[in-house]
Amino acid sequence: MTADDFAFDQRHIWHPYTSMTSPLPVYPLQSAQGCELYLNSGERLVDGMSSWWAAIHGYGHPALNAAMKAQIDTVSHVMFGGITHQPAIDLCRKLVAMTPGALECVFLADSGSVAVEVAMKMALQYWQAKGEARQRFLTFRNGYHGDTFGAMSVCDPDNSMHSLWKGYLPENLFAPAPQSRFDGEWSELDMVAFARLMAAHRHEIAAVILEPIVQGAGGMRMYHPEWLKRIRKMCDREGILLIADEIATGFGRTGKLFACEHADITPDILCLGKALTGGTMTLSATLTTRQVAETISNGEAGCFMHGPTFMGNPLACAAATASLTLLESGAWREQVAAIETQLKEELAPAARSATVADVRVLGAIGVVETRSPVNMAALQRFFVEQGVWIRPFGKLIYLMPPYIITPEQLSRLTRAVNRAVARSDLFA
Ligand SMILES: *Cc1c(COP(=O)(O)O)cnc(C)c1O
Repeated sequence: MTADDFAFDQRHIWHPYTSMTSPLPVYPLQSAQGCELYLNSGERLVDGMSSWWAAIHGYGHPALNAAMKAQIDTVSHVMFGGITHQPAIDLCRKLVAMTPGALECVFLADSGSVAVEVAMKMALQYWQAKGEARQRFLTFRNGYHGDTFGAMSVCDPDNSMHSLWKGYLPENLFAPAPQSRFDGEWSELDMVAFARLMAAHRHEIAAVILEPIVQGAGGMRMYHPEWLKRIRKMCDREGILLIADEIATGFGRTGKLFACEHADITPDILCLGKALTGGTMTLSATLTTRQVAETISNGEAGCFMHGPTFMGNPLACAAATASLTLLESGAWREQVAAIETQLKEELAPAARSATVADVRVLGAIGVVETRSPVNMAALQRFFVEQGVWIRPFGKLIYLMPPYIITPEQLSRLTRAVNRAVARSDLFA
């Protein structure tokens, strides 16, 4: 990459959540292999992010690469309208088999946000078909479901700046974020506000939408499984649909294949993405029950009103099937359990630092919440100097490494975090 390339990037290319006038620094990447990112500058960084929950098997995995190369020579893309193909069928067969219970009808789309749009649209069409005007969603504060408008309308109103879109965004219902921690006591009081909201709006609510167990980008919070059991019961009682957004939590990250398994519940609609292709291609899936699918299909439209151009992209499906095949070997269970044990042990010292408010670990997710917001550019530079790729935001420094990370590599990450929290100059 030349200096000119770099200048072009700064001047013309938007990166996630950045400014065009004072962009945050970016680090030119040469390549990535296993659990390491190789920068143009020659530095090798241990990856603590899995490219945002996605690269669970690390980078350049031979099985994923081989599956994609083989698929390219067969067909890399073809329209899904009026045509079907083996990669989509193989993938959906696996998805139906590995997801909880009655989820058996699969809608493939191109990103997590679209999977959420699809889920919300399914819920709206479901009630439309039943002849009831239910058009609101009940969710938690501190949630994150994506950046498109429907998804944004159920994201935390403060984090996603609902004030910016006032009058344009549907106004949904927000219960306080769960307070009972995953590893703590269940408190009955926690449910009161949620139950009250549901009771007050029971005839308007199409669905409850939530991230099971772990609220990701909205705060990296881990809550008590009893919440899911109670919500499942309340939804059943009212006939309200339950949408589980497992785009971040799915495929083993929390120590269960799907986070819903911590509470042994099945949602009516399930959203998957991120790690679906092992972090190689963009693909998402929304699964629902036969009953929801049939109700929608018997409605006024006579079909489900969605059909992306790149629906069922064969190349992405082939990558996903290869990734799910790796998961089927079961090795992830020991890997994630070992990462959890090591994270708990090695992040514990951070809790004693004056800059730290909380340390929490679940599965292959380790979170250090700081008392004041991090200086993102300075902390990012510090981490790169320490030979690790960790991308903090707000008051959160978190690790979610590829499952194949070695104990030595993981120690390198936790050591960098412990060093960072001892440096008050890296915080606002
Ligand atoms: C990342 C994420 C999304 C959005 O997925 P994109 O692929 O970025 O559109 C939705 N829900 C959750 C829980 C996520 O973590």
